[in-house]
Amino acid sequence: MTTKVWAIRAAEVDRGGSAVSSQELSKYLNREYVEMREAILEYLKHDLFKPKYDLSFYEFRDLTQERLKHLAKGNFISCFDHINNPGRFFAGMEALTYVDYSITIKCGVHYTLAGGAIALLGTRKHHNKYLPLLDSGKLPGCFAMTELGHGSNVMGIETTAVYDHARKSFVLNTGSDLASKVWIGGASQYGRLCTVFAQLTVGGDYKGVHVFVMRIRDDEGKLCKGVRIEEMGHKMGMNGVDNGRIWFNNVVLDRDSLLDRYASIDEQGIYHSPIKSIPARFGAMVGALSTGRVCIAQSAVDACKLGLTIACRYSSDRPQFGKRKIGSYLTHKRRLAPGVAQTYALHLIMIQLKGLVNDRHDPKKIHNLSSGLKAAATWTRVDVLQKCRECCGGMGLLSENQIGGMIVDMNVDVTFEGDNTVLMQQVVKGILTKGITKPEPIQVRNYSTEELLQALKYREDVLKYRLLQLGDLDANQDTCVDLGWAYADYLTAENFFKEVQRAPPALRDTLEELAVLFALEKMERNAVFYVCDGVIDADGLEKLRQRVNDQCNVVSGADGEHLNILCEGFGIPEHLITAPIAKGWRDFHTSPEIGAKM
Ligand SMILES: Cc1cc2nc3c(=O)[nH]c(=O)nc-3n(C[C@H](O)[C@H](O)[C@H](O)COP(=O)(O)OP(=O)(O)OC[C@H]3O[C@@H](n4cnc5c(N)ncnc54)[C@H](O)[C@@H]3O)c2cc1C
Repeated sequence: MTTKVWAIRAAEVDRGGSAVSSQELSKYLNREYVEMREAILEYLKHDLFKPKYDLSFYEFRDLTQERLKHLAKGNFISCFDHINNPGRFFAGMEALTYVDYSITIKCGVHYTLAGGAIALLGTRKHHNKYLPLLDSGKLPGCFAMTELGHGSNVMGIETTAVYDHARKSFVLNTGSDLASKVWIGGASQYGRLCTVFAQLTVGGDYKGVHVFVMRIRDDEGKLCKGVRIEEMGHKMGMNGVDNGRIWFNNVVLDRDSLLDRYASIDEQGIYHSPIKSIPARFGAMVGALSTGRVCIAQSAVDACKLGLTIACRYSSDRPQFGKRKIGSYLTHKRRLAPGVAQTYALHLIMIQLKGLVNDRHDPKKIHNLSSGLKAAATWTRVDVLQKCRECCGGMGLLSENQIGGMIVDMNVDVTFEGDNTVLMQQVVKGILTKGITKPEPIQVRNYSTEELLQALKYREDVLKYRLLQLGDLDANQDTCVDLGWAYADYLTAENFFKEVQRAPPALRDTLEELAVLFALEKMERNAVFYVCDGVIDADGLEKLRQRVNDQCNVVSGADGEHLNILCEGFGIPEHLITAPIAKGWRDFHTSPEIGAKM
């Protein structure tokens, strides 16, 4: 296949007097850990990371395991960064989504979940013993929280850990099948170390959920005494990760197996914790693990970047019905331009969220924001990638064109690291404070920046007030999810408009066009609310439709060519954009590796 170097790379286009450079956009978006990011992207040029579409179930798992080992050799990702430099940890993980979601999650389970639990819930003895082995990839790690009977309700898990002071050990038991650990990434084949969530009892007193670190396989890969593991099964996607199911039968763990940052047992067998209440202690432990949620949200944003880059290139280059490019159709602009705006908006607010985690900001604020943004980013990804796929017509179906693979592989991101619907309810519990007064009615007339922000904030405030009046959150879960969205939308839009002011002058017009489109589209999505609450009337609704159309035209350019510049701004290197339709679809041929077998 001849590969056409994308003509528009680093181009400058005239946008009504102001030129915008994709390089400048990229510099602005990718302003953190620049050298490290470039080094990882370069490292991913290795043959091992080239896409493979004809592998069997087990071959794909082996490849994913080899990829993890090779990444470990590069020394980019370190579990110590959870403690010393979370920002660097995020940067290390970020580029992986462009390769494939299995390696992203394989690393997520190993470095983020297993490594993160040991780093953030354990103490120095755990760090010294395990983190170097995790960093080097020599001790593959798992994270066993979910049980067959208890998914979203982690506090309800049934695995038990009973402290036996005579042996200075814990005895771990699964009990019933409902307490078996399910979906555990890495457990089925390669995992050797596991962080396990269990209900702790000390001296007959129930102490709530605690986390333990243990070997599930020895150095030869043989299962440890009392551990039973079964294969989870073939999944709709992400089959490079070997998910498994685990049972524990009287597994004996020494006293140091308890990750004891929040609770410990002393030489005399006495339990100590600075946090007295069981729910508060549980909250502190899971709150410390928000890194995983942040990584999942960032991956969703990165998948949007790749999907949009491919779909926008193809759309601005493919004619249909004569010479007219499909990217020139309004319906194409309507499907792609808002996705680009959402991706910019989410990328920029993710920088803020990662900054809060890095600066060890208030854990409650981090929990609310990471939960709301994880749900918003992954649900946005579902929507954006589906639109990208449809905009590419039949070509969107080919695995080589990357979008379809991401759709199936990443479908799980709305479920793991907190099911989105459940997360949005947690957000609401976190942000509803007593004493919220009824918001003063507002009206939107011109859809100015000020009015748009006011409208998004108004929706959040009205929904908060409404829920407080209703009182019963359980009977009004639908409104809770709406409020979770309203909270995430307003914060994202507010931050985007602030970024417009912070950005170099040459980028401001372009970023403002995107920020306006982001806010307009959010209003349009929630038009029923705005009409029913009297913020706009029927004429205002029609005006809104026109404004969204106009803004999509402005942001896209005649054939959608402006969208290419904006996608170039995401800064994905050519070697990771492997989709043939992104390089010159006229030269399309079946991939040699698959074609040769026919
Ligand atoms: C591919 C994959 C990999 C995974 N990897 C791991 C891993 O490595 N380690 C690990 O510990 N876990 C892992 N998980 C488990 C994952 O975290 C759980 O699937 C997730 O927490 C949801 O739990 P569940 O599947 O039991 O769904 P449930 O909690 O049963 O939810 C099912 C549905 O019910 C709804 N629901 C549940 N409760 C409520 C409520 N209160 N209000 C309204 N609606 C509700 C949810 O919105 C959802 O739609 C993985 C899962 C998958 C699919």
